[in-house]
Amino acid sequence: MRREVQSIVGYAAAFFAATTATIFWTRYSGGLALFWPGTAIAAALFLTLPYRKWAVPAGILLVLSTIATAFFGFGPGPALPLAFVNVSEALLTAHLLRKFRPQGDYVTSGPGILALIGIAGFAVPITLSLFGSFIAWRAVGGEWWLHTMAWIVGHGLGAMLVMPLVLLISGYARSDGAPDMSLRLSPRRTVEFIFVLALIAGISTATIFQTGFPLLFLPMVPVVLASYRFGRLGATVGVLVVTVVAAASLAQDTGHFAALDLSMAGKALFLQFYLAVQLLIALPLAIALNQRERLVADIIQREALQRLISDHSDDALLHLDREGLIQFASPASRALSGLENLDGKPLSTFFGAFDHQIIEEALSGARASPGATRIIERSVTRGHATLWLEAKIRAVYAAGAVRSFVVTIRDVTARKLDELQATREARTDALTGLPNRRAFLDMLEEQLVDAKEAPFALALIDLDHFKRVNDTYGHDTGDMVLKRIAGLMREHTTRKCIFARLGGEEFGMIVTRDAVDDALAICEHLREAIAGKRMADQDGRTFNITASIGIARIVETCSASVAMNCADAPLYAAKAAGRNAIRVAQCEGSWGSPMRVVPRHVMGDAG
Ligand code: GH3
Ligand code: MG
Ligand code: MG
Repeated sequence: MRREVQSIVGYAAAFFAATTATIFWTRYSGGLALFWPGTAIAAALFLTLPYRKWAVPAGILLVLSTIATAFFGFGPGPALPLAFVNVSEALLTAHLLRKFRPQGDYVTSGPGILALIGIAGFAVPITLSLFGSFIAWRAVGGEWWLHTMAWIVGHGLGAMLVMPLVLLISGYARSDGAPDMSLRLSPRRTVEFIFVLALIAGISTATIFQTGFPLLFLPMVPVVLASYRFGRLGATVGVLVVTVVAAASLAQDTGHFAALDLSMAGKALFLQFYLAVQLLIALPLAIALNQRERLVADIIQREALQRLISDHSDDALLHLDREGLIQFASPASRALSGLENLDGKPLSTFFGAFDHQIIEEALSGARASPGATRIIERSVTRGHATLWLEAKIRAVYAAGAVRSFVVTIRDVTARKLDELQATREARTDALTGLPNRRAFLDMLEEQLVDAKEAPFALALIDLDHFKRVNDTYGHDTGDMVLKRIAGLMREHTTRKCIFARLGGEEFGMIVTRDAVDDALAICEHLREAIAGKRMADQDGRTFNITASIGIARIVETCSASVAMNCADAPLYAAKAAGRNAIRVAQCEGSWGSPMRVVPRHVMGDAG
């Protein structure tokens, strides 16, 4: 609140000073002032305030404007109506700017400047000139259109040239969130600033006050210099200095503008055009430079951050050129690659020779969809150890093409081992350590894919009267029995013959193509081994256990459940035949169709 009051007082003082000064000095022919910065100052004030707070400052400005005109201008009679037009002009300017350019970027973007010039420089002064010129005409007579011209020129010029400056100084322009570095000057920069302004003043005076050579383009040079060195502040203050020099030349009736074969208003109009062109060149340049400064500052910050991350990260951070060759490798890269120098080497240097193709494919994939991250995980050998490396690859797309790649490489060995352990656990039976039902079904599915070309054998092994073992010797003994039988199965396990515990006291066996003819012999051997194994409980009581086995030879591709049924039927037959027996079937099923079980061999004690 206090700051708001201070700000209103500041604006009002500036308004009063500018108004009295311009009325005093620029009413060349007793008519209207030919340079009117008052509206710019007042409009800038209203822009900083919400609509509901406009009334009080508007009243204050009305009083001040009345005083200025009464004492220094047309006198007390027209003072109040004229002040009314002046303040309305500022209110309308602020309102239209806010309405058509709510972003408020009147000195920070090209479209913003255009809105400012269109509204404050042309539309509003042209509209209000009708009322202003009428009051002036009533006060001092003369040609009404000359008063109209004087109003349009003076007010348009004033608003266009002064408003950017006021918005910059007031800090309004900083509402874009970007600190304007050019606004805070160190003592050394201040000296340089004054020097550049003096240069502008000198060159403007030398070129505008003479009429020998058409050198009006020359002041543009130091104005551009000011924009280059001091951004928006340099541009606006620079053009203001040219304005002051040019206005002084008009006042003294000497130099290029005074020598024009035009009325005073015509000369001032041409001057306005001249200055507007300068501002339109200088201000966008300053804005572009300011944006560049911000970009550079941004890059410096990012680079510092990147350096911090890359120096202290356990991950390797890499930058590759568009061919995929390493341009930058962070310190951690050495440990992960096992190499001292990676410059110019391909990304596949981190991985094994067999992974070259995969890495190249990942790079092309990243290149094809910039912005997306490709992730590859490969195992590598470093000395005697095996590491798992995870690479995340991303293409950098800039200015219409893929320029480079950014890559992070991380050692994920611990996680990978956990994952492998978890998968292994998920596929292993906890009691016996044999593969479980899920693992068995996966193997079965694998075998079924080309069962027609490569028939295989599937067996189901069920322990006989196992319930009795539990009932007689206890559950723990039952468990021990299951483990020992699993041990027997392990003894029979080869690459071509795999056992699994399917649940309870039921086991499965797959014998693959090359050994399919041995399946029966293996089962027979197993059956005998089980039957011959002497079991004992904790109390030393001994007993024997037997198993019934159903074998199916799978010669057609079919579903896993159909295949399981194929082996279940002979198992049932073996049980029915008195247990401790083997029955064999050939199964010619197909996906979904009912199976056909063809009994072949009958073996075992009960057979
Ligand atoms: P059959 O000859 O007809 O196969 O008779 P069985 O008693 O073996 O068959 P049944 O299916 O009636 O009983 C199987 C028993 O296996 C029931 C259950 O107590 C036992 N069993 C299942 N899983 C386990 C286990 O993990 N540990 C122990 N100790 N017993 C189990
Ligand atoms: Mg059983
Ligand atoms: Mg059973």
